[in-house]
Amino acid sequence: MSIQIFGLPISRGVAIGRAVLVASSRVDVAHYFVPQEQVPHEIARLRSARDAVAREIEELKSDLPAEAPAELAALLDVHLMLLHDDTLSDATKLWIEQRHYNAEWALSAQLEVLARQFDEMEDDYLRERKADIEQVVERLLRQMASASRGGVAPVHHLSAQSDFGGAEPLVLVAGDVAPADMLHFKRSVFTGFVTDVGGRTSHTAIVARSMDIPAVVGAREASRLIRQDDWVVIDGDAGVVVVDPSPIVLEEYRFRQRQSELERARLHRLRHTPGVTLDGQPIELLANIELPGDAVAALEAGAVGVGLFRSEFLFLNRGGDLPGEDEQYEAYRDAVLAMRGLPVTIRTVDVGADKPLERMSAQELRHEHGLNPALGLRAIRWSLSEPGMFRQQLRAILRASAHGKVRILVPMVAHLDEVRQIQEALARARAQLDEAGHAYSRVELGAMIEVPAAAVLIERFLRHFDFVSVGTNDLIQYTLAIDRADEAVSHLYDPWHPAVLSLLERTIRASRSAGKPVCVCGEMAGDVAFTELLLAMGLRSFSMHPARIAAVKQRVLRADTRQLEARLSGVLESDDPAAAWVPARPLGG
Ligand code: PEP
Ligand code: MG
Repeated sequence: MSIQIFGLPISRGVAIGRAVLVASSRVDVAHYFVPQEQVPHEIARLRSARDAVAREIEELKSDLPAEAPAELAALLDVHLMLLHDDTLSDATKLWIEQRHYNAEWALSAQLEVLARQFDEMEDDYLRERKADIEQVVERLLRQMASASRGGVAPVHHLSAQSDFGGAEPLVLVAGDVAPADMLHFKRSVFTGFVTDVGGRTSHTAIVARSMDIPAVVGAREASRLIRQDDWVVIDGDAGVVVVDPSPIVLEEYRFRQRQSELERARLHRLRHTPGVTLDGQPIELLANIELPGDAVAALEAGAVGVGLFRSEFLFLNRGGDLPGEDEQYEAYRDAVLAMRGLPVTIRTVDVGADKPLERMSAQELRHEHGLNPALGLRAIRWSLSEPGMFRQQLRAILRASAHGKVRILVPMVAHLDEVRQIQEALARARAQLDEAGHAYSRVELGAMIEVPAAAVLIERFLRHFDFVSVGTNDLIQYTLAIDRADEAVSHLYDPWHPAVLSLLERTIRASRSAGKPVCVCGEMAGDVAFTELLLAMGLRSFSMHPARIAAVKQRVLRADTRQLEARLSGVLESDDPAAAWVPARPLGG
């Protein structure tokens, strides 16, 4: 029976595909297709993992001390039995043979199926056997991971796209995916995805949006209601997920899918058109990137530079081993070289809040940190509390400036005293490079304006920085006291709130009168609902996911800033700015 699940729309378009359920704890399992000729090899990997785990359990059994409780041996017997059970081994083989999943993916897919069956059992004893099957699969995955480290296949790289083209489209369904794990799904086999949790501007949603595939987050019950292999429609415009759609509904969505593909193709043609308004104002359209490799998509989309390189993605999930100076330098240099002389704005590390250094889902974060991590030791606060690490990052960024135009952007500045500390750190980093004989060029220093305190005192902060960039995602979160990652309060997360617009307008106006460049790099910059309003406020530089550039450019090309500016004050004074701001109609449209 067809059901509808409602969530938050975060990335436009329609995806139709079969559901692949991925447990939050297992998102780091490799997902890729294997070509037909590699199927026997995958099955052999599965078999040898099974044999190795069987030996491991047998050994555990024979090593049990005589005084060990009898239940322990019995438990190991249950694990052995499950290991050889057809519902695990034969069914897993089928995922490989029929769907061409790699062995790890096939195993976790089958685990999801079995876990559901156990959940539905009436008998308590049998229901509790779910934990046993999970442990057995965990052992198998670990075994395959260690075999891979021996050179067989990559394991901690998710979703490598294969050339295998015979499969049906797939959509990812997960309870939660941490932002760093979401990165692994870039260039993946999935054509859409749904998660149970997450707010519109959570970092998981941001990375998802950068993948430019239809997506819905905060769809509460999705991973419970959708089953492995169900046909699912993801309506990324409305934030609706339709499970097992009827043929009529499916046809309707297929039609919309074709329409949005045509629209995309049409917008793509604008990529090399300069961003200039009807009244001749040049508008800078920059890209937000997470990894150096994203620079390719930025150039392809027609970005005239990188306005925000979220460097923290180089720091996440490394088991305490942070990237050293050389490794960082190489990553920044690669981005700078890839941008071929266009400017690259590298934001210093912004960990904390929903981007903890170690893998943690939003749900786990809430459990682990009773305190609110968004108000804690994140972004520049963390950097200043780790001065050695901070200088190391500054040195790496400065060294990259020898290869092109680089700017440094500091997140979450709120205290004037932080400015002094940042400048001192930068001066020391330069002195250290001079001493070591490393080359670097002039690098501008900018502040992210994303804490209301910085927006309120913008004139004072501007004295110390070469440029500013408004992080509207956090500015909204902190102005309205709404956790941006929490779907429970997402209805209150309102970019149109008069207080938000007032801080934004104030920041843009003050920066322009101080003669300092100002950009907006939060999600509002890539949302066409705000393009004209931001232009009216005087904004001339926007930074966004590469995939959003063409749509925003289309708005820019049709805008007349003089007409827009005339309408601004009424909107800023209105109690309902969204209603007061009727978007400018395209000329002739
Ligand atoms: C913002 O806060 O708007 C921003 C661009 O930074 P991030 O989303 O990474 O916090
Ligand atoms: Mg921010």
